[in-house]
Amino acid sequence: MTGAMIYDQLTVGSLIDHAARFHAGTEVVSVETSGEVARSNWGEVSANARRLASALNRLGVAEGARVGTIAWNNRRHLEIYFGVASAGRVTHTINPRLTPEQIAYIANHAGDEVLMFDTTFLPLVAPIRTHLDSVKHLILLGPRDQVSASKIDGLLFYDELLEQGDPDYQWPDIDERSPAAMCYTSGTTGNPKGVQYSHRSIVLHSIAGNQPDGLAVSARDSVMPVVPMFHVNAWGAPYIAAQVGARLVLPGPDLHGDSLARLIDAEGVTLSLGVPTIWMGLLAGLQETGATAATMTRTVVGGAALPPSMIAAFRDKYGVDLIHAWGMTETSPLGTLNQLLQKHEHLSAEEQAKVRMGQGRPPWGVDLRIVDDEGARLPHDGVTQGSLQIRGHWIVERYYGQPDSALTPDGWFDTGDIATIDPDGYMIIRDRAKDIIKSGGEWISTVELENIAIACPGIANAAAIAAYHPKWDERPVVIAVRAEGADITEADLLDFYDGKVAKWQIPDRVVFVDALPSGATGKILKNRLREAYRNVLTETA
Ligand code: ADP
Repeated sequence: MTGAMIYDQLTVGSLIDHAARFHAGTEVVSVETSGEVARSNWGEVSANARRLASALNRLGVAEGARVGTIAWNNRRHLEIYFGVASAGRVTHTINPRLTPEQIAYIANHAGDEVLMFDTTFLPLVAPIRTHLDSVKHLILLGPRDQVSASKIDGLLFYDELLEQGDPDYQWPDIDERSPAAMCYTSGTTGNPKGVQYSHRSIVLHSIAGNQPDGLAVSARDSVMPVVPMFHVNAWGAPYIAAQVGARLVLPGPDLHGDSLARLIDAEGVTLSLGVPTIWMGLLAGLQETGATAATMTRTVVGGAALPPSMIAAFRDKYGVDLIHAWGMTETSPLGTLNQLLQKHEHLSAEEQAKVRMGQGRPPWGVDLRIVDDEGARLPHDGVTQGSLQIRGHWIVERYYGQPDSALTPDGWFDTGDIATIDPDGYMIIRDRAKDIIKSGGEWISTVELENIAIACPGIANAAAIAAYHPKWDERPVVIAVRAEGADITEADLLDFYDGKVAKWQIPDRVVFVDALPSGATGKILKNRLREAYRNVLTETA
């Protein structure tokens, strides 16, 4: 028996259709690869998405085909998001910061038939062209230009294709369970693995992630996703923006703090999303440019732990509320978001800030638990640490091309993170299972040690790692970068830990370096640091 209500498939096409019908004139601002600011709107994005779909039909690209992209956050990439998926194909966003070998591996593994890329990436794509086994069509995102055409045989040009496309093309009927987009894990902890998002999972993720206690994007917002569109679909921001008819500001290739600060002021950005590294840069950029970020009310921060000192800096100086969120490629990515409950309203600003530091609560649609090594549930008491597991409508079930389920026998996805959950559902990531320091059988959180180091005057950035110790097995070592002009010493930083953590958790050593190695999504590569400094305690002993 079905209920007596209209049944429609939940599809990506329905999102762009809504934006085109009811928010056609709402602006989509796009910083192009050239640096020029282009102004479009949801009506044009929809028409171009349809032109693209019909052009891909004409090229003979089958339904279900994967269409790779290597592109910045810009309007053409947005058109691809909707034009590819709504016509039953799969948008496969590729991270350009990967090595050329990894990019070829991923494109081949996904079996991409088309690859579309910004001009910036022509020097990346041309040399690996012959290694892209499944790619039949390479499309440059721009108008025809002879120099580019001479670099790749048969290169097609996006703008030319669109000129011949049909702006009234009608989307085919699509099963909501079919794939709409895919993304590979960034490989920080192993080989990249493909995750395919379905139309249904994308739509449910957009609705549930955008509740008032979630991103809370409305038609009055100007949303700037700084998180790349190749990093878990810019955390769903493009889909959410279409669904509510928000104005979008796509920042293009230049993500330096000063450029972002100027863009925020010039375009009246109200909400932004990105990883902590970006916001560290933005703080510096705001200071440098004298921009005020007066329109910006909130910023969603995730992908890595948000240092509490950053929350205060944004709140006190710029009146920007940092919303801490957690997720991963396998979770679409929104798994938790940090907003207060009614019972927190009477708390002092300081106490509220403390609640806001964690990664937050799950929205409807996902469930969380922590378990021990045997898979037994652990209490949600805010203290007990365990392996964080998740299940729900937008959580991976199996990786692309793998026959086996990625879940535990009872249907949960193990995140590889170590967390606590309190009785109200507030989750705090204590560490990644691979990063946590096991000192004499006790666990020390690298995240906590890093947060303290970053809050120390004279320190620009820091990573805590486990170094080998003959007695305790592992002891914490902090690899730190001094702020420009600072002359802070190892002893100064170690003193700073006094009283902030238990004595036995204070790092054994500080090693100063010029820069920390970071991976394709801007996260610090702790495995590299562990390789380099694993024996630092025994070598100097
Ligand atoms: P990768 O696992 O290759 O780094 P993802 O981008 O999928 O790629 O990263 C997901 C992981 O990032 C999570 O499992 C978690 O360890 C970390 N992470 C994400 N958000 C946060 C956060 N707010 N605080 C701490 N860690 C986070």
